[in-house]
This record gives sequence, structure tokens and C-alpha cells, in this order.
Amino acid sequence: MRRLLFAANWKMHLGPDDARGYVKTFRARYNRRDDREVWFFPPAVSVEAAALAVRERTDLLVGAQDIYWEPKGAFTGAVSAPLALQAGARAALVGHSERRHVFGETDEDTRRKVAAALAAGLVPLLCVGETLAERDAGHTLAVVVRQLAGALSSLDGPTLSRVSVAYEPVWAIGTGRNATPHDAATVHREIRAWLRGRGASAPRVLYGGSVNAKNVAELVAEHELDGVLVGGASLDPEGWAQLVQSGVA
Ligand code: PEP
Repeated sequence: MRRLLFAANWKMHLGPDDARGYVKTFRARYNRRDDREVWFFPPAVSVEAAALAVRERTDLLVGAQDIYWEPKGAFTGAVSAPLALQAGARAALVGHSERRHVFGETDEDTRRKVAAALAAGLVPLLCVGETLAERDAGHTLAVVVRQLAGALSSLDGPTLSRVSVAYEPVWAIGTGRNATPHDAATVHREIRAWLRGRGASAPRVLYGGSVNAKNVAELVAEHELDGVLVGGASLDPEGWAQLVQSGVA
């Protein structure tokens, strides 16, 4: 059975109290379906509250929006993979567009973060995607492959199988302009081929970028998409519950 993953990136929203209320509302509004799972990426301060609120539900999971690659030490303000794990995270976003473009994260940084997540037992969800200028120049696939290679090329097949990837074109994030299912599928096929070619079995590839309740069904109808990573449209628990219920797996 195709099992879709709906991942909510709360970005810098929803503190611990908000997170508890959010998950309570979501659980009341969402009718659990066996053909989908739901992951939440709260800000670091809310990971524990969200993780406690989803407990006992195997279809719900909480992850960190970012991790630092060192496990511990004098790195003021940073959160390591083992610390995120202790707070209840089971996954970590790596290389989100805002980390790359606002905070200057490099491909080498993403490589270290993926390795740190794997070492701690977190599922890395690596985000890749081109800017509008790169797309207009016809460099989409080259950029995506460079980002994959930068983060993942040192991993063997079984380890690579523990990594999920989200294709998130930068021009689609928070802009209200999503990739067409056809365009997303072209990039997903390339990502999947890259992962399979290095021994990954059943790689999971999500799409992200202005997904909302109106366009989600059309997007997930495309079988190259194993799910979606959603920012803005995941912030309201009732709307998110409705979005997760949409579409045929
Ligand atoms: C994201 O933050 O990963 C994202 C895709 O944002 P939005 O859905 O708001 O475009």
C-alpha cells in the first residue's frame, strides 16, 4: 500500500503551550488513516511538548527543524542530534532552504548534519531545491544532484536507505507558487534514480513549496510524490487536519 507522508514545518511559530494545544486540536479533527503518516517539525523549544502530545500514536512523529553536527560542547545556541533525540525528536530536517539561504548553510554543513542525525538514530529529511535564477538558467537537475552528492555521497546503500529527501524549489517556498505535479515528478525521478543508483532501497521523496488544501490532492495524485512538506498551510491545526485527509494514496 502506498503510504503518504505529510510533514509540517512550523518554522519559527508555536511555543510549547501552542504546540500542546495544536496537537490536541489536530488529534480531535484528524481521522486517522492507515495510508498516511504525519510528522511535525516544531521549533526546538517545542519539540518535547509536541512529542509528549503525539505519544502512543505510531502514525504521528516529531522532528527537529535543524541540528548542529557536534554531539555536545561549547556551541552556544545550538541543538545537537542527541539533545533533540532526548527531547523526543525522531527525525531532523537538514538543509532547509531557509537554513541555506538565510543562515548560509553549505553542502558540507548538510553532510555533517546528515551524518550527525544518522549517528544519533534520527531520520534525516534532507531538503534540496533550486533558486529561480538556477531554474531559469536550466540548472535545476544539476543543482539538486550537487546538493544530494554534497550531503550523501559518503553513505553506503543501507545507510542511504535511512535518509528521506524533500524536493523544495526555493522559488516555491512561501510564495504561493507551487511546482506543477509534472515538473515536481521530473525532479523526483532524478532524485530517486540518484539514490537507487547508490544502493538505497525504496527511497522516500517528498515535495514542498506552497502546498495547500487546494492543490494537495492534485500533487499527491502524482505517484512520484511520496508525500509533502508544508510550511504556511500547516500552522492551523484544523486546516492541517483537513489537508492531511485530502487526496487518494
Ligand atoms: C517549507 O517551509 O518547507 C515550505 C514548503 O513552506 P511553504 O509550504 O509555506 O511554502
